[in-house]
Amino acid sequence: MPDQDGKLTEEETQKATAWLNEHAKVGKCSMCGNLNWSVVPVIFNSTIYYPGGGLRVGGASVPLISIICSNCGHMEFFSAVVIGLLPREPDAQATVKSPEEVAKGTANGG
Ligand SMILES: [Zn+2]
Repeated sequence: MPDQDGKLTEEETQKATAWLNEHAKVGKCSMCGNLNWSVVPVIFNSTIYYPGGGLRVGGASVPLISIICSNCGHMEFFSAVVIGLLPREPDAQATVKSPEEVAKGTANGG
């Protein structure tokens, strides 16, 4: 589990690197053709869009890790849950609810 600042431990960074090498077949950077990538050792949080464009503190989000091209800085993102850095949570299903359900305020299981 990442620390309070969202930083991955060295072990977690190595786990993510191993998972990506096994599952993702990371190739050339789509921007510059470079073959050297590294895992950015933090968890990013992509917030969910809500109607009206507002941001909900504590609302649904998607935790992500990123790899970065060592030459141009292009970044690509992967699910931290699928990689196994974070546990699957039942509330994660809230992200697939319809816009009508989200508008009713049931997106967080409430
Ligand atoms: Zn690049």
